[in-house]
Amino acid sequence: MRVDQQRQMKHYLMLSFSLPALVLNGNRIRDQILAELRAGVEAMTARGRPPGLAAVLAGRNPASEIYVRNKIKACESIGLYSEKITPPDTITTEEMLALVAELNAREEIDGILVQLPLPPQVDSKRVLLAVDPAKDVDGFHPMNVGLLVTQRPGLVACTASGILEILKRSNIPISGRRAVIIGRSDIVGKPVAFLLLHENATVTICHSRTAGLAAVAREADILVAAIGRPALVTREFIRPGATVIDVGMNRLETLTDVERIFASMPAKIEEFRQKGSVLVGDCHPADVAECAGAYTPVPGGVGPLTIAMLMANTVKAAKCRTGSSRSA
Ligand code: NAD
Repeated sequence: MRVDQQRQMKHYLMLSFSLPALVLNGNRIRDQILAELRAGVEAMTARGRPPGLAAVLAGRNPASEIYVRNKIKACESIGLYSEKITPPDTITTEEMLALVAELNAREEIDGILVQLPLPPQVDSKRVLLAVDPAKDVDGFHPMNVGLLVTQRPGLVACTASGILEILKRSNIPISGRRAVIIGRSDIVGKPVAFLLLHENATVTICHSRTAGLAAVAREADILVAAIGRPALVTREFIRPGATVIDVGMNRLETLTDVERIFASMPAKIEEFRQKGSVLVGDCHPADVAECAGAYTPVPGGVGPLTIAMLMANTVKAAKCRTGSSRSA
């Protein structure tokens, strides 16, 4: 049965009994995308050189160090050339700008990733604006944002394009459906809103000042939560049978919070006892599993796609750059 049929059926049958929700497995979709990219990278390498990604990691931020390590690992897994550049946390804005200019000029570097947050003395906006839009694999440069808004080819923010991949590869219908996005950040909420709009969804963007948030969310066939508030989206927000995409990655560090949110999941409480923290999304895990027709888990939902789409953007940037240098 197709996903939309299953969702519809679940919607109709909700009152009498509940079907288990479809779990949208981000790890599986990531692996598919990486396998597809690997073949393209091999061909490009055979014709000349592999696409190259430079990751700039300034300062000492343990979370950033893990993110960059995972990105470099993903590069290695598909045969991309990668370089990790680690300037000291005393670096100035001018020095960062010089570093970016150097990477912009290097032929074998197709993608530049400036891991955020930068040390506080560095003007992040100036640095991100200095990245050549053709190498802006995070899709943060205003030039790429403008291309997205006007539906022209460009580099799109990775988490947002990853969400589209999850929906499309899971055969979730988008055209004509109501999509509600909670969160209006430049890196997730806004770009995913435009991607869904371009797929002909009717899109509503909600934020911290939205009145009657749960009622608005409950209108959604596709609900995207990109908020950064642990388990804020509860059953009142979810229309029975809706597809729920949980972008949030919130670390719980107190037993009280873990027991409150994971009351019906003793395995999570045990995980907390062993590790000292557990991750939770922006959606209440038991409520979403009970009410949604399909949903992304945390972890293992949207997160893996962000890295896969970074790889996809690097390959795309390399193809565009090679194409344009050939025609020049
Ligand atoms: P952000 O802080 O930049 O934006 C959060 C948005 O949520 C804001 O627009 C704000 O208006 C809205 N918001 C805050 N409180 C609200 C409330 N009570 N009600 C309604 N709206 C509210 O965050 P972001 O960078 O978009 O990230 C959001 C979450 O997604 C975070 O948990 C982040 O860690 C996670 N994230 C995950 C990935 C991934 O790869 N899985 C990537 C990026 C971000």
